[in-house]
Order: sequence, then structure tokens, then C-alpha cells
Amino acid sequence: MALTADEFYANALQSADADGRMQLSRMTAWDIFPFEPDGLRVVPLAKPELPESPRRGEHGNSCDACSSPSRGDIWSDDHWRLVTFSQPSGAPLVIMLMPKRHFDLTDLPDDLAAQMGRLIVHTARAIEELEHIARAHVSRWGDGGAHLHIFFFARPEGFEQLKGTCLAIWDDLLAPTPLDVRNHDALAVARALEQSLGGTASTK
Ligand SMILES: [Zn+2]
Repeated sequence: MALTADEFYANALQSADADGRMQLSRMTAWDIFPFEPDGLRVVPLAKPELPESPRRGEHGNSCDACSSPSRGDIWSDDHWRLVTFSQPSGAPLVIMLMPKRHFDLTDLPDDLAAQMGRLIVHTARAIEELEHIARAHVSRWGDGGAHLHIFFFARPEGFEQLKGTCLAIWDDLLAPTPLDVRNHDALAVARALEQSLGGTASTK
């Protein structure tokens, strides 16, 4: 049994100062941490709020994915879409995998769950086969939108600092990858998926 929200808050505050700020953690000394510890401080931990605010796509809030059913598609089949953002970010390539119908991870039917497993593996493989890409990071957070979306972040080769979980922060710090380069790599991934699993790559 997990701690209640109030118990979790009280437990977390044991290592906080009077303002509710934690000390800097050992993560700030990691080689991959994007910020220098000097001058850095942790924001105060806010009190828990229950019930939580609804996500996009639940409790009557409109769903981005369902209201724009093909926006940003680079590949699709009968049940799934691979999507890029309209503008590139700092990582060489960021892709989202999402079901066409409105499911979250925990209510995905088993047949779609099996497809998702293959799609994650094949998409990651296609990303890692791109020239100058060392790794495909895969994550599902899901606190903003209720429509399942799996993130893939391509990590450029040769950058020890960009390894690991902080790539999601570096992605916001680095200058955007040129649009034509990003689109070229997105199309290469889409075509690789078309070859290995079927579906249709967008030629946009
Ligand atoms: Zn939806």
C-alpha cells in the first residue's frame, strides 16, 4: 500500500528546508546533468491537490489526438500512427507512437498491446539505424494527455553528456535540428517501418 498524498508530502518534506525546498541531489553532479549546481535551487514542493485536474481527452476535455486524427503523421496503419511535431526540437528526431482510437496505456486491448510491442521495437530499431544516431530512448509519461502517446527520442552519437534521462531536458535547451534534416530522418524511419511491419509512410 502506497502512502496517501498527505503522508507522501510529509515524508518528502523531511529533507526540505522551511520553504519546502529539497537540497540539490546527487543527480546535479552527474556528467549528463545540464545545469551547473552553483545558483541552482529546487522549487518548493507544493501541497498535494485531490482530485487531480483532468487531462486532455478525459472527463469532457477535448482530446488533441482525436480532434486532429492525422496531424503530423509520418506513418500509419489501420490502428496506429507515428507522429512528429510541426517544428523540430534540440534532439535530432522526436517521434510519438499513438493508437488511432482513444485508448490510454492501461485500457489498451491485448491485440493492440501486442502490436504496440512490435511497433516500439521496430521504430526504435529504425531510429538506431539512422546515420549519426546512437540510441533511441523510449518513454511514456501520460500526465498531459489521456490518449496514449509513446515518445521516442533519438540521441546523437558522440555526446556523452546527452546520454540518459536528461536528454528530454537537453531537447529543450539545444538549438532545433534543421527542419529538412529532421524530416529526412523521420521519413527514413517511416519507410523502414513500412518495409518491416507494413502500413504506409507519409511522403509529405
Ligand atoms: Zn483521443
